[in-house]
Amino acid sequence: MAEQSGVQGVTQGRVRLSAEDVAGLNQRFRGSKPEAVLRWAIDTFGSRLAFASSFGAEDMVLIDMLSKIEAPITIFTLDTGRLHEETYDVMERTRDRYKVAVQSYFPGRDAVEALERERGFYSFRQSVEERKFCCFVRKVEPLGRALKDVDAWITGLRREQAATRTGIDVVEIDASHDSIVKINPLTDWTEPQVWAYLREHDVPYNALHDQGFPSIGCSPCTRAIKPGEDVRAGRWWWENPATKECGLHIDSKHGAR
Ligand code: SF4
Repeated sequence: MAEQSGVQGVTQGRVRLSAEDVAGLNQRFRGSKPEAVLRWAIDTFGSRLAFASSFGAEDMVLIDMLSKIEAPITIFTLDTGRLHEETYDVMERTRDRYKVAVQSYFPGRDAVEALERERGFYSFRQSVEERKFCCFVRKVEPLGRALKDVDAWITGLRREQAATRTGIDVVEIDASHDSIVKINPLTDWTEPQVWAYLREHDVPYNALHDQGFPSIGCSPCTRAIKPGEDVRAGRWWWENPATKECGLHIDSKHGAR
């Protein structure tokens, strides 16, 4: 099993990968279909694998693929308290269509109460630091709780999504979360590939995508883009593109992503 899966070792019940394992796996998965990556992940990590979903287009592709593999996997989402109505709608349609439970992680009550009391309700517009603080309270800290008891997590990240994501690999070691494994099966996919899959398989998706939102986050920090604009132009549009990450995805090779 260990040899077949490319896993170096199991320590105190936890599956760990070495840097050599990761390099070998990325070589092996070059040109592979995402379904092959998902099958490897399920075989390797079993119940200690979770899928972090914000129910964007890429995540819906992966949810559909996972349903066809028929693997019980924990799907979790970060309910920041500032999401769009359309996001809750697609989460509910996902539950209905795929008969899956979605585990929400909320921000800490005391932290949000203090944030709003001391900094206001739109502090994230004041500076990059204030915005990152809000993202920390509402996303980063809850993500840490969600990943505390897993050995690996799956994301829908793609390289072409942002200047900050061009260096991602299919398999990575997540140094910001206790060196668990991070798996990005859609790394090489293009936006047209994502939409071709959704249409071919009649997969539900967030209605905001049809209103000019290629990337969807919290309601006050996401807006529609104009034709020809970068796909991340509607996220934190008042900031420099180089700062446009919420801290959920830290590049272990190059720093913040
Ligand atoms: S995206 Fe905006 S509202 Fe959501 S956590 Fe980040 S700063 Fe706060």
